Amino acid sequence: MRTSILGLLGVLACAAAVQSHAAPLLALQCGDVFDAKAAKLIGARTIVTAADGRIAQVLPGKATAPDATVVDLSGQTCMPGWIDLHVHLGQESSPKSYEERFRLDDIDFGYRALVYADRTLKAGFTTVRDLGGDVTPHLRDAINQGYVQGPRIYAAGKSIATTGGHGDPRNGINSELAHLLGPPGPADGVINSVDDARQAVRQRYKEGSDVIKITATGGVLSYAKSGDAPQFTVDEVRAVVDTAKDYGYRVAAHAHGKEGIRRAVEGGVTSIEHGTYMDDEIFALMKKHGTWYVPTISAGKFVAGKAKIDGYYPDIIRPKAARIGAQIQDTFAQAYKAGVKIGFGTDQGVAPHGQNALEFGYMVEAGMPAATALQAATFNAAEVLGAPDLGQLAPGFRADVVAVPGNPLDDITLTSKVSFVMKDGAIYAGGGSAR
Ligand SMILES: [Zn+2]
Repeated sequence: MRTSILGLLGVLACAAAVQSHAAPLLALQCGDVFDAKAAKLIGARTIVTAADGRIAQVLPGKATAPDATVVDLSGQTCMPGWIDLHVHLGQESSPKSYEERFRLDDIDFGYRALVYADRTLKAGFTTVRDLGGDVTPHLRDAINQGYVQGPRIYAAGKSIATTGGHGDPRNGINSELAHLLGPPGPADGVINSVDDARQAVRQRYKEGSDVIKITATGGVLSYAKSGDAPQFTVDEVRAVVDTAKDYGYRVAAHAHGKEGIRRAVEGGVTSIEHGTYMDDEIFALMKKHGTWYVPTISAGKFVAGKAKIDGYYPDIIRPKAARIGAQIQDTFAQAYKAGVKIGFGTDQGVAPHGQNALEFGYMVEAGMPAATALQAATFNAAEVLGAPDLGQLAPGFRADVVAVPGNPLDDITLTSKVSFVMKDGAIYAGGGSAR
């Protein structure tokens, strides 16, 4: 990755303006405010930000504060900056994806990631959990250091799979290449025992991950036949989860098939991603263990749509995309009715970055009230992350604010028409002269 880091330094000159986003004192006069804890609108409020990038005060109605510059957001609804719990900023799938991994270097994906991060932030997503990719921990650091702009990132780094499983980096390559590269091990994100599982988590710690991702079953876009076969033993999941706890990590489990989901939940993971073939038995188990569900309907719809196009996906991918992709929204509807805890996530990088807010519409379409969908991307998502200062507009919380022109509870499509974005007290979209 050394060359990638050096390469990324090349963009510093053009990104220098970003560093001027020191947080000024601002008074955001919001026409309406979404209380993410109560999941309801509470009327006009003025949000006063502090120099440390946090919210200092939330005042009733249209107010000002000493030394604060007023930002007029009348007619707009302010919400806590949205959180997407499942993205891959280091990639964006296309018919070229399967050859690009042989032609491009990490630095190429790094440059693209800068654009994806910018689009994500401007779409109102001030925080993301990136569940797999070598580029993103470096992108996270560049954003945190002010070199480039993007959302706050919780990065998994390499995801952890088993041999031939979803995320095995040697899947789909010819035998000569596979021989040259040798069998992948825990450092590459491939484990086959509880000892390997511990080593893989410790390796992620060494590399600076913020969260651990496992692929508990097959997946749609990997070059392998099964999208739903279980790929971890319960003992392997437990070893990951227990070791992760040593480092304060939470564990997210990609899983489509029922048996793999069951093992992941019993093994103690924090969240099930996709969860395609869950049923009432699984819902009950998740409620018993307090497991979160991150649905990623966006990815399901995207791959099901592309599976209809000849040649878009390799032949081995196409039937998985058609079958699994089409199921996720229905499963989400059942999980919501069953009372499973739901956090917002899209799997963006499958579908294009910056279109994350379409997920809100898919959730509402499946029967979830708009306010509950917004809560899933704010209050709930902060709980999934274990981030006590995210997901609410209240004193002491990070000054992450997104606004839309009108009432998103009446019209959820307004979430795709973001009019204002603030992260850590700095404005990245809208805000007029205060920017
Ligand atoms: Zn994913």
